[in-house]
Amino acid sequence: MKHSPGSWVKVCLILILGFGTPIGFSGAVIALPQATEVLATTKQGGVIRAVQFGPTSAATRVVVIGQMHGNEPAGRRVVRDLTTSLENGEALPADTAIWLISTMNPDGSAAGTRVNALGVDLNRNFPQGWREQGRATARWSGPSAGSEIESLALMGFLDRIQPTAVLSFHQPFAVVDITHASSRAAGRQLATWLGLPARVVGCPGPCHGTLTGWVDDHLSAIALTVELPARVNSLRVDRSAAAVLRLTRWLAR
Ligand SMILES: [Zn+2]
Repeated sequence: MKHSPGSWVKVCLILILGFGTPIGFSGAVIALPQATEVLATTKQGGVIRAVQFGPTSAATRVVVIGQMHGNEPAGRRVVRDLTTSLENGEALPADTAIWLISTMNPDGSAAGTRVNALGVDLNRNFPQGWREQGRATARWSGPSAGSEIESLALMGFLDRIQPTAVLSFHQPFAVVDITHASSRAAGRQLATWLGLPARVVGCPGPCHGTLTGWVDDHLSAIALTVELPARVNSLRVDRSAAAVLRLTRWLAR
């Protein structure tokens, strides 16, 4: 049987309408606007990059940091999964943008160390409640608040973006930390979707100089630490990426 051009148009329309969002139809996917920005080059020549999907002026702005401690790599896999999904046409609600930072500690990642190349624990280096502590340990705060190029770069970026929410991936405690009161509703939702408990974790003693402490206090944004387990399989990576997208949609509601 010979098909006229008109009948092929009908077949294509049925396929697209029948499957809803036409993900997987390479010709029909409309990917979100995407841009990559270099936030800093680190002491050892590592690069901190933010990949943006969606408009800068979006009302809902979510920042995902895959890695802060160089010996906790699983969150980078979650960011890679998210990047692939969004590049392949995964839809976000209108007026929503997401920024993906695979690592904010490329030198630590290359060396497999918690700390950066100068031996500083970036999660003790932010100005909120900073105090010098842990010199010559893997939890050294650095010599002064915001002394490190990595934390300065993140603060400059976040100050400019004014995010709705910042998610910071770590390992290995398998929990969503809901230390900050104004982040608890979002944290409980995220934990449910991740299949992890949500609780106030904090630090051994009071927290000093953490990223989420600074985001909560300085930006009044949702600030959540996601502690993945020590061992993370590909199902866990997929589920984590899906949970981030679900939270983004929930925040945009
Ligand atoms: Zn960590």
